[in-house]
Amino acid sequence: MEIIHSFEVITVILVGLIMGSFYNVIIFRLPREISIVFPRSKCPYCKHIIPWYYNIPVLSFIILGGKCHYCGKPISVRYPIVESLTALLFYFSFIKFGLTMAFAAAIVFGSIFFILFWTDIDTRILPDELTIGGSVLAIIYSFFRPDLSCKLALIGALIGFLIFIGSYLFFLKVKKKEGLGWGDIKLIILIGALFGPYKMLLIIILSSLLGILIWGIIAMIFKKGREYELPFGSFLGLVSLIFLFYGDKIIVAYNNLLL
Ligand SMILES: [Zn+2]
Repeated sequence: MEIIHSFEVITVILVGLIMGSFYNVIIFRLPREISIVFPRSKCPYCKHIIPWYYNIPVLSFIILGGKCHYCGKPISVRYPIVESLTALLFYFSFIKFGLTMAFAAAIVFGSIFFILFWTDIDTRILPDELTIGGSVLAIIYSFFRPDLSCKLALIGALIGFLIFIGSYLFFLKVKKKEGLGWGDIKLIILIGALFGPYKMLLIIILSSLLGILIWGIIAMIFKKGREYELPFGSFLGLVSLIFLFYGDKIIVAYNNLLL
């Protein structure tokens, strides 16, 4: 029994590492509309195609000492970090849910939020493939899951859309600029459909607080908070990722706080 369990855990972590390597490709290419299957990965400096044995998650980075084998230029430490965090996501999903439908959902939606977190930081783009695609998946998932009805999923998506489109139009009219992007509006539809209206509202509140906190820190350190456009989608993605695992506990804690 014990042996089988550790075999499963190791398999889940290895699959997580391999998927993490793939997510690195998606994070870079999807916002730039480059195909995610072709061409093969190249060194950004010397353009040498990276063979599979120099592309093993985390391990290659360590063996190569964080440098390209061909030109010696540094490889971003982001790559092994994304790979390790993806493995952690897979591991957490397995430990928390076992081999259940909730496990598959945590992996699929967790991966979507994780990738959106990085694309928004890098490019301020939340690709439609993930936001619209994820919304469709969340609605389909609501037909099968025991903890959220299809009706609540649709209500969540609708309320999220109305709140964000309202704030978008408000900013446009009053401040004469876009406070939220269309990517954020599509992302909140996904969050509403996946978590239902109650958790979604709390996710919006916590993401906004996180945004204000980060904005304050940046303004203090760099004295240029006003010019820095915050990746609000990253905060939504990060808080949503945490809600996949601790949403129920956070809701209980929040209700206790109000009582
Ligand atoms: Zn190179």
